[in-house]
Amino acid sequence: MPGYNGNRSYNNGNNRSYGGSSKWKETNEFTNPYNFVALGKKCIRKPYEEYKKGNLITGWIECSLTTKTPLFIPNTTNENAFMCAKKGHKSYDFFSYDDIKGQDRTKEFSDPVIPASSIRGAMRAMHEAVTDSCMSTADDEKILYKRTPTPKLPGMLKKDDQGWYIHPCERVMLKYKPCTSDPEGILVKIGDYHEGQEVYIRKSKNHYDNKPYMPYTVAEIYPKTDSSDNKDNLLKIQNNTSKSNDNPIIVGHVHIGEEIYNKHHESVFVLEENLKDNDRIRVKEEDVESLRKTLKLYNDENINLKLKEERKQNKGRKWYKEYEVKEGALVYYDKDRICMTPSCISKEVFSNQLKQILKKSGEDNYKSGEDKNKNNGYNPCSSKEVCPSCALFGMIADDGKENTAISSRLRFTDAQAELKSNKNEYYDKITILEELASPKVSATEFYMEEPSIRPDLWNYDYAIKWKGKIPERVKDYKPRIRGRKFYWHSKKVLTADEPTERNSTVRPVRAGVTFTFKVYFDRINEEELKKLVWTLTLGSNENTNCHKMGKGKPIGLGSVKIKVDKVIERKVEIKNNTLIRTENEITADLKNAVDLNSTNIKEILKITDFSKAPNNVRYPMGDNGKGGKNGVGPHQWFIANKSFSNPPMKPKIYKTLPKILDSKTTLNDYEM
Ligand SMILES: [Zn+2]
Repeated sequence: MPGYNGNRSYNNGNNRSYGGSSKWKETNEFTNPYNFVALGKKCIRKPYEEYKKGNLITGWIECSLTTKTPLFIPNTTNENAFMCAKKGHKSYDFFSYDDIKGQDRTKEFSDPVIPASSIRGAMRAMHEAVTDSCMSTADDEKILYKRTPTPKLPGMLKKDDQGWYIHPCERVMLKYKPCTSDPEGILVKIGDYHEGQEVYIRKSKNHYDNKPYMPYTVAEIYPKTDSSDNKDNLLKIQNNTSKSNDNPIIVGHVHIGEEIYNKHHESVFVLEENLKDNDRIRVKEEDVESLRKTLKLYNDENINLKLKEERKQNKGRKWYKEYEVKEGALVYYDKDRICMTPSCISKEVFSNQLKQILKKSGEDNYKSGEDKNKNNGYNPCSSKEVCPSCALFGMIADDGKENTAISSRLRFTDAQAELKSNKNEYYDKITILEELASPKVSATEFYMEEPSIRPDLWNYDYAIKWKGKIPERVKDYKPRIRGRKFYWHSKKVLTADEPTERNSTVRPVRAGVTFTFKVYFDRINEEELKKLVWTLTLGSNENTNCHKMGKGKPIGLGSVKIKVDKVIERKVEIKNNTLIRTENEITADLKNAVDLNSTNIKEILKITDFSKAPNNVRYPMGDNGKGGKNGVGPHQWFIANKSFSNPPMKPKIYKTLPKILDSKTTLNDYEM
């Protein structure tokens, strides 16, 4: 492994490429656009009243903000601001107070404005990290779903007087596209078969691709016809074909899965013979319900983007329509957990939602196990006992009750740009930005902490180790997220050459433009003021630590330096029966504002240091060597990362995301 110095240690020098063929090579280095600032030991909460004790100050902070890279925040009143001819492609001008609906903006310019909400959002996220507060932006409404690469066992869902059970099956591969690794397989037209259809088959003599861990393939297939008797027909076929008895014709059921790029085979499920009563795998009603939910996810075009595409193209694959969760349904299951899915590589509806994980996050909670009464997890605050960020920025309790809501003691203003004689001086040229990848929570090797027991795979629900072909579940596994997501600064902006439906054209504010804004604060204590100023400046006006703001953070946009120019305290006093208003400049002493030796602060100072911005910030890339649009891309990196050190049927995570404080924070691409 030349240059690899990552987080999993192996005691031999070989690169653990499966089969010893060094199939995947590590080539170019990259810095993943995001990384995570660690959570502390526990989220410390105090009754809200305690934050309002002692000397309380009211006033405002005058700030300046200078762009260090192009910055982009869209004016959404016009989604075709630069009149691009490409259909479905969007183009935006920078945010301003002007309604630019219907205008061609190519030669028109407005005064750029950074809306308060953009500044406030970035400051809250940073304040939460600085003060080790709760993760208020964690969204538990979304069902966490992912593609699990864990292979599942084939079976048929059945019912007897004791309820639901799974009848284990053998999967035989059915070729529907030419495939050189399957010379024995018979090529069928998949449109001729329907989901669950009963057929007679003869298996191939050899395993697929001659690999013992792969299934056999279908060498002969005969549809069962309704008119003839099952057994007679079977015998007739048996006699007509002069094959030996050790490879007889058998009965099976066709299972048509989802269309996957480069897929050549569907399946025939053959029921295990002479199944004893206690070999029936019992499943609960809720397991069947969970399967229905999974199917619902498949059928949701907003989640299953491929389905949307397929329906548009109308390829005639009927699986989504035909598949029903009922007796006789063909399923893949996981023996240990009884998690059933309709497809072998499949989305699972995870029972662990993010909030549950956050509740148990933090070192203390992790070690001490679950204590539901302890209110020190990193889930969003929900009572009058609040973390420092909720106390300052406010919160809306998720029970929706008004008496548990806390109003913000901060108010941000929009940031206005310094005066320029020509408005076009504010802006960079009109640019097509590289497509932004959607966050992949399924990339557990990036988002989840690697458990100390070093399993082969881990996710939001379980961790497994391979024992032969059997995935063995690791006992007492507690999923932990890596922490709070932040983006590295980058030395370059990643642009695209051609407009497409998935990228966009923008006109960003260029680097070197200064804006000013104010933060009004109302009755906050000195400690809170210090931490707020520290958060804004990231330690000092003079250092090179910058925030990231606006759109395109993963592709090199949005680096800004905020300086605190003045802190003004406003006092209203009654002296000699007269109301006196005073405004005095005060200084916030940043010494001891934060603990510079704590991990979170060290990580923040490293990832925000603009002077040390890496020049290789980009998404991971993998290339499966098979060409085509889908053969290259970030998803191929994650596929390769799980099949690099083990055969694909027994996926194992090879590399995890380095930590911010590691000396080497880069990873390598995979290439055939
Ligand atoms: Zn909170």
